[in-house]
Amino acid sequence: MSLLFNGIGVSRGFAIGKVHLLQRDQLDISQQQLEQQHVNAEIERFLAAVDLALQQLRSVRDNIPHNTPIEISEFIDTHLLMLDDPMLKEAPTRIIIEQQCNAEWALKLQRDAVVEVFERMDDPYLRTRKDDIDHVVQRIQRILLKKEPLEEPENISFLHGSIVIADDLTPADMIVMQHQGIVGFITESGGPLSHTAILARSLGIPAIVGVHQARHYIKDGEEVILNGYSGLILATPDDKAITHFRSQQQAQEQQRLQLNGLKDADTITLDGTPVILHANIESAHDIDALHAVKAHGVGLYRTEFLYLNRNDIPSEEEHYQNYLNMVTALQGAPLTIRTVDLGADKEIQSDNKRPLAHNPALGLRGIRRCLNEPALFMPQLRAILRASAKGPVKILLPMISNLSEIHQSLELLEVSKQSLQYSGLPFDPQIEVGAMIEVPAAAISAHYFAQAVDFLSIGTNDLIQYTLAMDRIDDEVNYLYDPLHPAVLTLINHVIEAGKSAKIPVSMCGEMAGDPRYVRLLLSLGLRTFSMPPNSVLEVKQVINNSHLDNLKESAQAILHCSEPLQQATLLQQLNLGIEPQSVYSQAAR
Ligand code: PEP
Ligand code: MG
Repeated sequence: MSLLFNGIGVSRGFAIGKVHLLQRDQLDISQQQLEQQHVNAEIERFLAAVDLALQQLRSVRDNIPHNTPIEISEFIDTHLLMLDDPMLKEAPTRIIIEQQCNAEWALKLQRDAVVEVFERMDDPYLRTRKDDIDHVVQRIQRILLKKEPLEEPENISFLHGSIVIADDLTPADMIVMQHQGIVGFITESGGPLSHTAILARSLGIPAIVGVHQARHYIKDGEEVILNGYSGLILATPDDKAITHFRSQQQAQEQQRLQLNGLKDADTITLDGTPVILHANIESAHDIDALHAVKAHGVGLYRTEFLYLNRNDIPSEEEHYQNYLNMVTALQGAPLTIRTVDLGADKEIQSDNKRPLAHNPALGLRGIRRCLNEPALFMPQLRAILRASAKGPVKILLPMISNLSEIHQSLELLEVSKQSLQYSGLPFDPQIEVGAMIEVPAAAISAHYFAQAVDFLSIGTNDLIQYTLAMDRIDDEVNYLYDPLHPAVLTLINHVIEAGKSAKIPVSMCGEMAGDPRYVRLLLSLGLRTFSMPPNSVLEVKQVINNSHLDNLKESAQAILHCSEPLQQATLLQQLNLGIEPQSVYSQAAR
């Protein structure tokens, strides 16, 4: 009998294969009291395990094939840095001495302390760094407990063509599995922002996360079909399902070829309305991906990654060199630099003095944090200004919730301009400044904000989280994430209208902008600039180039005014298929 399971599709594509259940035994860590004379030997045992973990990871990194996406080696480098960090080396050693306990226990205590700090961070990207800690700690624990690491080749050579189901996967696991020709991943934990999701997307391997207890219900060796678009898994499919799957797979391959052919095409609707497609990037490496799909520029450069894995704040010169590299690589295409959107981040030394926020998502994050700590903000502003002398650069301010934050930011920008002028350093005096609209208050006040800035950019990831009061990376409430919620659509519509009245551009840089399902709806609401991960650009372009704006208006209004989720889903489907909505519209509008 076939069984259907549901998770979150995080890397698109279809896969069929036999399941390999990764039952990594739970590590059983217990406390043991040592006699004083054994403490030194225990420290040596611990440090030897850390050394061996370093060797294992270096060997994985040295064997990464050339064509592996850069993110993968970046994750491994992060893990290598962590293994060398006092947080994982010296702190457990101290605990062994102070508590006279075994190394495993000391490492567990230190892991718990570090993870607690990570869990209280409000920035989802930084919070997912807790996974890195766990991956590194588990590697050391396995060595201490004399368990084999996953990547021992003899363990996994049979994985070719299979779909791996695990609780969670480390970047190292994924590299090794990709080598072995895994065709899909399913994990029990994680959300769209988890490492498995990010890496699977960049490897182009279909993946589904958040399938709770998958290993309980799906057997090792069982055949499954995985649909990375919808998040559905069909276990033990019958012949009919397999035939259907094969045809979907063929269609997918054709679609891929068609998309490649769109690279050089203009982005323009059938009635001749041009649309701008920008890319969201996180580091200079992503610019290659942007060029590969010929995106028009960078709509969102998340600068938080400059601050990670270090104890100090990047200097103005570091910021500048980094932005300069990007401006050069972009060859005249615009670079929108979002000023740093950090939360209660303990990785920055100056934060050590701060008490942990009770509710970091509502705390001193984004622009609040920058205004509160000019030493963090000013070097970045000066560096952005300096880079603006070398090419088209814009500034984007995150988490704006009131007008005064815009005014204060503009004042600091003015101060930076004056100081550069005084030093004789060039910059673009007309540099454009935009506000991210990601707090409901900002969306409602967009008319006022639009008078003070040059452009608005809708950050739907946070806007949805704050509007619907759901933590976007909390597995338990992920189901509430709904870009079509009437409240969300009303706010988006309001922001676009505010931009129109003030005659300033409005873009969208949250995940919603890169999801082909919402493109026609957003077009019809008047959105003309979309910013998204580079690998979504061609698919979105395809939808735009097949849309006629006149045909969208009625359906879009119906969706906007529909409060019944099922009816709304039908309307959206009709909009995307180009079916007239009349009958349903009249009901929805009533
Ligand atoms: C957003 O909130 O939609 C956004 C683009 O910012 P981030 O995902 O970095 O919070
Ligand atoms: Mg955001």
